[in-house]
Amino acid sequence: MPAKGVDYAIVGGGAAGLGVAWQLARAGYSPVVFEAREPGGGAMTASAGMLSPAYEAEFEELPLLRAMIASRERYPAWAAELGDIGYEPSGTYELALTREDVPYLQRRVAFEQAQGLKVEWMEGPSLRKRLPMLSPRVPGGSFARDEAHVSPELLRDRLLEAIQRAGGQVLAHTPVRHIEARTGSFLLHTPAGTYEAGTVIVCVGVPIEGLELPFRVYPVRGQMVAVESPRPGWLPAPVRYYNRNFGYGYAVPKRGYIILGGTAEEKGLDTALTVGGVMDILRRAYYIFPDLYEVRILRMWAGLRPSTAERVPLLAQAPGQRLFYVNGLYRNGILLLPLIGEGVKEWVLSGTLPELLRPFQAAVGG
Ligand SMILES: Cc1cc2nc3c(=O)[nH]c(=O)nc-3n(C[C@H](O)[C@H](O)[C@H](O)COP(=O)(O)OP(=O)(O)OC[C@H]3O[C@@H](n4cnc5c(N)ncnc54)[C@H](O)[C@@H]3O)c2cc1C
Repeated sequence: MPAKGVDYAIVGGGAAGLGVAWQLARAGYSPVVFEAREPGGGAMTASAGMLSPAYEAEFEELPLLRAMIASRERYPAWAAELGDIGYEPSGTYELALTREDVPYLQRRVAFEQAQGLKVEWMEGPSLRKRLPMLSPRVPGGSFARDEAHVSPELLRDRLLEAIQRAGGQVLAHTPVRHIEARTGSFLLHTPAGTYEAGTVIVCVGVPIEGLELPFRVYPVRGQMVAVESPRPGWLPAPVRYYNRNFGYGYAVPKRGYIILGGTAEEKGLDTALTVGGVMDILRRAYYIFPDLYEVRILRMWAGLRPSTAERVPLLAQAPGQRLFYVNGLYRNGILLLPLIGEGVKEWVLSGTLPELLRPFQAAVGG
């Protein structure tokens, strides 16, 4: 049987793949997305949907911070064009858990302010005026006014509609098991047959179905628990907390419920929920929010964040070929989606990677 022809093949229909597909379709091309599971069925819909540059970048990660800020700034326009993606420009809080955490957090606030972020330090009493449900043990925290969050499921749904409307296609349950380079094209081998593509953009996050990549992806498992909201509007914005002994966690309000996260464990492809992981999430959340003791657990799940060894994004092109790789979005793929969507489209069409994404350009084998 002759191979079916495709101009732009995107392998992987998660955050990166759907973002790039929409941008290509919007520019008048007809991309086809090959997704092994349901679209968004990898890390995308496992995520909490926070758009939180201030709290994600470490002091030494300036290019990543700049990219995250630029991407977050694109969200209002994306939300206006896509429709209801659950976009909430609520700001985000980050809490100190003990007096010992205060100097570190205040240093972060100074760093974030120096990068132009609108972040302010708040002492415990003024913080509790805004967040009366906080434990009296919390000594203070910071508030980043420009942060936001979205619903990953609504974002996925709106992107699928927009891709289809603009003439693109998403093939669910169509894993690509092997990409074979030919002269001037590629053959994509799937259980549903072979497709021939002029350009291939590989956005698989953590690859499955035996697909081999020319670099290593480190899966970082995140366990998550959704619980009832004690009252409507109980939590007005995402709250994050970190302490060296206590660990890391966050609570993110969604429509009618709260997501509690999230562990960061390197356990290969294992997406199991564990007693220790769930216990840590609940213990930390309960320490901060005593009201949660009586609420019902609604759902628990785990997802795999795709990370490079350096924990930064990876954008690579096979030498001399129209084969592109987008990976390493780790814990920020929802936040980075607009910048990746627009930037990778430009890269693939013009051959030039936009400046904000150039620090993540990497070399891979042919
Ligand atoms: C618990 C958790 C919480 C998170 N919270 C946030 C957050 O609050 N904010 C934020 O910005 N980010 C968050 N993230 C990170 C974000 O979800 C990821 O960075 C993002 O989803 C990565 O996008 P991706 O497209 O590279 O991978 P994915 O979204 O995983 O998409 C890759 C897709 O490729 C498919 N695929 C794999 N192999 C093949 C194959 N051989 N053929 C075809 N398809 C294939 C997969 O099925 C998958 O659907 C979180 C992640 C987790 C796990």
